[in-house]
Formats: sequence, C-alpha cells, structure tokens
Amino acid sequence: MFIPDGILCRSSVLSGIPGVCHGFSGRAGGVSVLEHTRSLNLTVDLGDPDDTVRRNTEIFCRAVSGGVFGADSGVKARQIHSTRIRILDRSNAGEGAAREAGEDCDGFLTDAPGVLPMIRVADCVPILFAGLKDGDPSRPAVAAVHAGWRGTAGGIAPKAVRMMADAGCSPAEIRCAVGAHIGFCCYEVGEDFVEAVAALCGSDFARRHIRPVTLPEGGRSARPHADLAGMNRELLLEAGLREENIDFSPDCTACADPDLYYSHRRMKGVRGTQGAGIAIL
Ligand SMILES: [Zn+2]
Repeated sequence: MFIPDGILCRSSVLSGIPGVCHGFSGRAGGVSVLEHTRSLNLTVDLGDPDDTVRRNTEIFCRAVSGGVFGADSGVKARQIHSTRIRILDRSNAGEGAAREAGEDCDGFLTDAPGVLPMIRVADCVPILFAGLKDGDPSRPAVAAVHAGWRGTAGGIAPKAVRMMADAGCSPAEIRCAVGAHIGFCCYEVGEDFVEAVAALCGSDFARRHIRPVTLPEGGRSARPHADLAGMNRELLLEAGLREENIDFSPDCTACADPDLYYSHRRMKGVRGTQGAGIAIL
C-alpha cells in the first residue's frame, strides 16, 4: 500500500526492510515557480534555473532519508530508455545531484550506505527494490529503475532482480514498489507500439497487456491501451518475486489531480519530473 507521508508517498512493502529509506515524490513541496515545473521538479534543462533544481533535489533527498542525507548523497543520471543499470558505491554520491553526472543509464544498484539513487519520471514507471544479502538484516541492497515502455519491454525490472540476486539477495525475498505512472486508463498506443512490444516479449505477452479499455459508458475504446503495471508485474513474478512483495501505486499520472503529478502526455511534453529514491541508512 502507498501511504502519503508529507511531500512523499511511501510503500508499506518497502518500509518492512530494516535500514532502508525510500520515497516517491509528486509535484508538491518544492521551489519551482514556472507553470509547468511547479513545484518539486527534479530535472535540469526543463526551464528551471539549475539552482532551483538543486534546491528541490536537496528537499527530496532530505524527505526520503528523514533528514539524514542531502543532495550530496543523491545520484541522478541522464535516462535514455535503455536497460542499463549501474552499480554504485560511496564514491558516486552526489553525481548528477550535487555535481557533474556520471554515465547515462536507467537504473542503479547499490549496497553502500549514504548513496541515494534517484529516478525521474513524468508518466514512465519508477520502480524501487530492496533486499537483504544472504538474508542478513545488517546487509541490505537497493535498486531503482526507470521503466518507460522500452525499458519495461526490454526487461529492466527483471534485470534489476537478477543483479540483486547476483549480489546475494534471494528473489523470493526481494521487495519492490512500482510508483505512479500513466495508467492503462490513459495510455493509448498505436499499432507500431504493439508490434514493438511483440518483437521484444512475444505476441502473447503483447496481447495480454495491450488491449482496448472498457469505457465508463460501457463501450470499448477503438484504440488499444497499454498496461505498463501489468507488464512489469508479469516480468517481476517470472523473475521470482512473490506477489505480496510487489506494491503498486493506485495513481495514474495522466488523469490524477493535475496538482499531484507531472504527466508528459497530459501536459503535452511541457512539464517537470517527479522522482523516486531509495537509500541505505
Ligand atoms: Zn488515467
């Protein structure tokens, strides 16, 4: 269950891992004043002065960690819709958050305390993971991924699970939270999208997760809609996670209250980004 806590939402599934803090942000609580970035935009080059984004990053990191870590612990990278996941250690702290960014990627994995991987989204799916190496409560590992449709169908979520397993976390014990993203209700897609997903995951997979929606009036939409949550759920279960260890935000970024989330589709590309972050204390 996703539980609002100040400017963040936290997942009750992830909160059960000792020594790990995490949070998902929305639009509220920051210092951006532009119409489209107001107010907790976490990404540079979208219209906000760099210093504004830096202050928002500080606010975000403090909120996620209960005041323990600031932006100098955060790590952001340019996200490129790949399945590249970087392994971070303490030396990466601050990259892209308080100093120059490291290499582009769409996910992070770390077992180092004091490093706070950040994912930024505005309709794409943010996914956070936590596990215990060899089941030892004193040795957590965490991961965070950015999964748009390309990352989702490319398997970035199960890849994070495999990398955590390589680090010693049993997939059956890994916990995962899937944050707010564009829902099946709003994610209308074209035939080229169906073909691209089918090419990556097979046509049965594409048929299961891309289909017309039932409209409130009882009819069916003409064009197919894609279910990114359903795709990630299936891939995570296949990777060995247990159903009860996967938490989903109930919110759709596109049709929720516009003050709650940035949405690339609703805002026609002119928008800021909300974030997801996780760290070992
Ligand atoms: Zn929606």
